[in-house]
Amino acid sequence: MPIFLFLQMVFMVMKLIKALTLALCASYLITLSFSLFASEIECDFRQVSKRIHVIVGSNHETCPIKEVEHPLTNPAIIVGDSGVIVIDPGSSLQVGRLVLERIKSLTDKPVVAVFNTHIHGLYWLGNQAVKERFPSARIYAHQRMIERIKGGEGDFWVQAITGNYQGEKTKFVVPDAALSGGEIESIAGLKIKIHYTGHAHTDHDVLIEIPEENTVFLGGLVVEPEVPSQGVPQDANFKGQMAATRYAIALAAEHYVPGRGKPDGIDLPKRASRFLEALYDGVQRYYEDGLTDFEITERLKAELSQYTQWYDFSQLGGVVSQMYLQVEQESF
Ligand SMILES: [Zn+2]
Repeated sequence: MPIFLFLQMVFMVMKLIKALTLALCASYLITLSFSLFASEIECDFRQVSKRIHVIVGSNHETCPIKEVEHPLTNPAIIVGDSGVIVIDPGSSLQVGRLVLERIKSLTDKPVVAVFNTHIHGLYWLGNQAVKERFPSARIYAHQRMIERIKGGEGDFWVQAITGNYQGEKTKFVVPDAALSGGEIESIAGLKIKIHYTGHAHTDHDVLIEIPEENTVFLGGLVVEPEVPSQGVPQDANFKGQMAATRYAIALAAEHYVPGRGKPDGIDLPKRASRFLEALYDGVQRYYEDGLTDFEITERLKAELSQYTQWYDFSQLGGVVSQMYLQVEQESF
């Protein structure tokens, strides 16, 4: 039997920056049920290429939601010549430790670097576990992510994701190496190419390419099977997200690792692109016809009915409303 579960994210308003008040809304309502043997299931840990392994945290048939102890995203491990590089070490101290355990099953080499693709807390709060064990590991992130953490979003995400957990508390660890895009870092014998295409899923997503492994990490730009940017639609620029997804496709890698969902080939970003463009085109078309965002949502739910099985499809309205505002702004 499959595991039945529902994950819903709702976001509450919060002031973040003194001059510019950015409202981010979040609260998580997690409803879940486990099958009899769910607790015995290990989260899927798969090899993507010669040196790259990924915990597929969002496949809830193999990695059930378990408080803050299982990942909901895809922490990735790259085994270099002289050390290990981690991409997006997960949503908590506990998930970060799970990532370290998985590394131990592969190699005795130390973690020398961590990359955080973006600020949404599911992806980076595991930094703490890496620093606890490997204090000299450098944590890389876009400079805007670092600014935003320091502006108050670090506390916000710790509370939103781990606030109700009764076990050992997670603390956020600010990345210590700022990126701006275009860098080619040489770490542990590997080249790490950083791509930044502007405001997309957030204002600072980085695409991470490992040319020798023919692999691209998509971060929050592509999640599957899921409505993109549904969690925090007000953080996204949808035209930018479409452009960034096309950019990722143009990199023509062999392997793509989504922020959530199963790694795949180039069809993965192509599928994400098709969905996002169909949604945006629909919003634009019905906006021009004078429909409200609510009316547009109802029509698009019917038009895109082949996607009803995607997580959070019922929450499509949040993304449509935000797209509507952005289409409206574009029209002035
Ligand atoms: Zn995200």
